[in-house]
Amino acid sequence: MTQLTSRAPQRSQDGLAVELSGLQRHYGEVRALDGLDLRIEPGELVALLGPSGCGKTTALRILAGLEAQDSGTVLVGGRDISRVPASKRDMGMVFQAYSLFPHLTVAQNVDFGLKLRGRSRRDRRARAGEMLELVGLSEHHDRYAHQLSGGQQQRVALARALAIEPAVLLLDEPLSALDAKVRVQLREEIRRVQLDVGTTTLFVTHDQEEALAIADRVGVMNAGRLEQIAAPPQLYDAPATAFVGQFVGLSNRLPAQVQDGTARVLGAAMPVLPGSTTGAGEALVRPESVHVEAAGEGADGDAHVVAISFLGALSRVTVTTPDGTTLVAQLASSLAEGLVPGQRVSLRLAPTPVLVVSA
Ligand code: ADP
Ligand code: MG
Repeated sequence: MTQLTSRAPQRSQDGLAVELSGLQRHYGEVRALDGLDLRIEPGELVALLGPSGCGKTTALRILAGLEAQDSGTVLVGGRDISRVPASKRDMGMVFQAYSLFPHLTVAQNVDFGLKLRGRSRRDRRARAGEMLELVGLSEHHDRYAHQLSGGQQQRVALARALAIEPAVLLLDEPLSALDAKVRVQLREEIRRVQLDVGTTTLFVTHDQEEALAIADRVGVMNAGRLEQIAAPPQLYDAPATAFVGQFVGLSNRLPAQVQDGTARVLGAAMPVLPGSTTGAGEALVRPESVHVEAAGEGADGDAHVVAISFLGALSRVTVTTPDGTTLVAQLASSLAEGLVPGQRVSLRLAPTPVLVVSA
């Protein structure tokens, strides 16, 4: 796996591979999982991304043994664990915030699983200390959950999950109850720790930015199945389906005509990605592929600026063409500085490969 070695050159231990095959799970009429296939390489962090209700939690709970599949298999390290009870599956779990035992201190929380497993007091103390150091919470070992911030509580939950040296680490939306800034800090922290311990990890989220930022590979789920799994840049640059193209990142849907591997979009020629339709369709064009320039000084423009939103280093500019097509461009704020609503501009599409879907 080239993206693995490039992103994670050193692992202190070898994890185990996880393989979910043909998982089905129905709840009455609802097909929570509809033939899910997913392989996670040893030591890899895969983020499972998808809209609410697409089956992410069900997949995680089946892997954990908290839920049984109707059919399909779960292999860990090549062994079929479908009949192994949750308590014997050796998985560390972190859920949304507020999962710490409120009557136990931080150290006792981290110690909990070790105690259950009958480790000696000396071992337990050493291991809990090591884990709290790993997540940077050594000084808070005797606090209770209510004396910690949400982010600190989740770091304790991570230490607790890893204390038992699990075969697999499972995280289900562990950051979604936290505010934006803490969320970003903590996801970097989780990734650092995960690389450090080398545990094979499934990270479930509905937040695409989070998934792209943290994972070796991102699996996009839709209606109980995996639509595509790829390293973050590949997923973003070469979505395999309309669903992935729309769900991951922003896209303009622009009328397109495809012939011989090239799409004609607003007069420009763009190469098409595998999986594209032929003939008439709609191209999914990223905002950063749309270049906008003030008209005049040689460039004649027939598009107009509708709105500009400043995002910091980048700005998004909404423009309309004379035929009424509205599209969004994203450019460096320094380039957007001179633009005002109503202004005449010229548009140019960069020849980046696009997915063309049926309209
Ligand atoms: P996600 O985690 O992606 O939001 P879930 O795996 O929780 O999705 O749910 C997938 C689908 O299965 C949803 O339609 C949900 O309502 C349904 N579902 C999940 N668990 C149960 C349950 N215990 N009983 C009935 N329906 C359920
Ligand atoms: Mg869920």
